[in-house]
Amino acid sequence: MSNSMETLSFFENVNRNFDRASQFTSHPKGLLEQIKGCNSVYSFQFPVRTSKGFQVLHGWRVEHSYHKLPVKGGIRYADSVDEDEVKALAALMTYKCAVVDVPFGGAKGAIKVNPKEYEVTDIEVITRRYTAELIRKNYIGPGVDVPAPDYGSGPREMAWIADTYAAFNPGKIDALACVTGKPVAEGGVRGRTEATGRGIFFGLKEACGNAEDMRILGLTPGVSGKRVIVQGLGNVGYHAAKFCQEGGAVVVGLAEYEGAIYNPNGLDIDSVVKHRKETGSILKFPGAKDYPNTLESLELDCDILIPAALERQITEGNAPRIKAKIIAEGANGPTTADAEEILLKKGVMVIPDMYLNAGGVTVSYFEWLKNLSHVRFGRMDKRFEQSAFDKMLHALEQATGKTFSESERNQIAKGADEIDLVNSGLEETMTSAYNQIREIWKSDSRIPDLRTAAFISAINKVATAYIELGIFP
Ligand code: GLU
Repeated sequence: MSNSMETLSFFENVNRNFDRASQFTSHPKGLLEQIKGCNSVYSFQFPVRTSKGFQVLHGWRVEHSYHKLPVKGGIRYADSVDEDEVKALAALMTYKCAVVDVPFGGAKGAIKVNPKEYEVTDIEVITRRYTAELIRKNYIGPGVDVPAPDYGSGPREMAWIADTYAAFNPGKIDALACVTGKPVAEGGVRGRTEATGRGIFFGLKEACGNAEDMRILGLTPGVSGKRVIVQGLGNVGYHAAKFCQEGGAVVVGLAEYEGAIYNPNGLDIDSVVKHRKETGSILKFPGAKDYPNTLESLELDCDILIPAALERQITEGNAPRIKAKIIAEGANGPTTADAEEILLKKGVMVIPDMYLNAGGVTVSYFEWLKNLSHVRFGRMDKRFEQSAFDKMLHALEQATGKTFSESERNQIAKGADEIDLVNSGLEETMTSAYNQIREIWKSDSRIPDLRTAAFISAINKVATAYIELGIFP
């Protein structure tokens, strides 16, 4: 490790991981260059009149890879954002979609603004104007580029984007498919909000379910009983913590920007959220120890650390002191390449972002399909399934003389609702993608970790798409 590495930008970090993995593939240099670079970078400024007066804001939309269309990725609202960050996040979207077989290229957008400093009406004006700038340059559309929520944005912003796009495209029948992560009443799909957190839990369940891998880490198989620290109580962190808790894990630490709390006996997520809402801070939660320096909490005793806030939280600086055996990357890019080398030497298992937080885009894909088909999942078959199960139970009763109780009947003779189908599709996606990347990891002793394996998987899939398109031999 050299000092120069410490200064690698986020995008350079992503590319360093890419280069490391590409050594395990046999693609020509030109093809690798085409996969790695950003196909298009749109950087713009736009004027808005907000409650603070007249302002000029900066926006980006980066379309990283056109090997599949539309391209896909969220829009980040943060005043710390810069072009390098949007490029890195767009690239990660390409690899993420490839790893979980979601047929999109990668993209990412950003508005350099701190939404907490503005009125809701200001955010609406900013969002609609940003959307108009995307429309102007054909950087949004159901078959072109489909944004979604990211840090600082949510279903409300997505509804404004869909409405603005529809207003500029009257009569366009698929207009709602121009953006995902919308409220359910506005064309969204059930289960999208919690999808990233639920996907993290499914990924952890699969990883922790492997007895051999757990034995190497000195852990018992299963999520149940594992001690977890979560950084970030936003949509991703909150849901990851909640599903882990429901799955029997003990959430011992929670960190937010104002500080962190730790209790070896466990913290109840909803009580902590309630306490934070009431007091304005996560600190001073009954029975927990306070850590006003939030980064310190990443180094506390636990089995699984879930960074679910922003990029570059685990660095060369704190990696040597991390005690977790598993780092489950909920955020995009929370571990720097230098930190990863240190963790690897310590025998820590890092479950990489581009796989582990892909639940969000997976369910976005389901939402997009729903919008294109104009029908709710389960609408056609729910009753049909239910009556088929009913008939089967009836036949069993006739044959055996046994009578099923009302509650047995309700449990068995049930047709799938939209939420059941979304969650089942998500679990299937996360489980099979984990096994794909684990298999690559174990196929060659020189492949150091799951991240490299995930990159190899992604590079091969994107390369295959380019070769199939006839662009490369
Ligand atoms: N912003 C999310 C991510 O980083 C979701 C992207 C999407 O659903 O398109 O994966």
